[in-house]
Amino acid sequence: MLNIILFGPPGSGKGTQAEKMIEKYGILHISTGDLFRYEMGNNTPLGLKAKEYMAKGELVPDEVTIGMLENKVNANPDAQGIIFDGFPRTIPQAEALDVFLKEKNTEVTLLLALDVPEEELTKRLLKRGESSGRADDRDESIIKNRIQVYKSETSQVFDYYNQVGKSVSIHGVGTIDEIFESISEAIDQACC
Ligand code: ADP
Repeated sequence: MLNIILFGPPGSGKGTQAEKMIEKYGILHISTGDLFRYEMGNNTPLGLKAKEYMAKGELVPDEVTIGMLENKVNANPDAQGIIFDGFPRTIPQAEALDVFLKEKNTEVTLLLALDVPEEELTKRLLKRGESSGRADDRDESIIKNRIQVYKSETSQVFDYYNQVGKSVSIHGVGTIDEIFESISEAIDQACC
């Protein structure tokens, strides 16, 4: 199985590149942000819980996030591979993912980190906020907090997989196709 963690700060282009990866590699895409927004849209207990954190640009607690992710993977037993988008965002999430995949006799193939300068991120997120309907993209202080959380907590996940030689940094500025080219090269080198 091709199990790819698509990694990078908010606004780094994970969703855009995930679409191209689905097309080329035919693998399942799981975005924890999208899953939370779906639950929020349906006012489920999980959605209401997630909203408390997302509205402030904070991380939803690990136990909630990990359970939701595992349910989604279990609901797709025939997947040939998975793009994990927005997960893991903490070390406990990464550890839980490793244990979970091991139980399924598989593992993380690669972590691809989109590297984009901070000023560019804020610019892109505010622009997305004009049309996306996402409240967390409209407020500069919430955006700043999300980037801060990425730096202080999430970036450690890069080092965690780097220690086992699985992390690759991708230059995330350029055209969508140029960036996708770098992603494809990294995937083709790591697998198949
Ligand atoms: P972005 O990467 O653009 O910030 P996402 O859609 O991936 O957007 O995530 C939006 C919000 O959802 C995050 O700010 C966070 O509150 C919550 N979230 C998503 N994934 C996770 C996760 N793995 N752990 C905790 N919270 C998460």
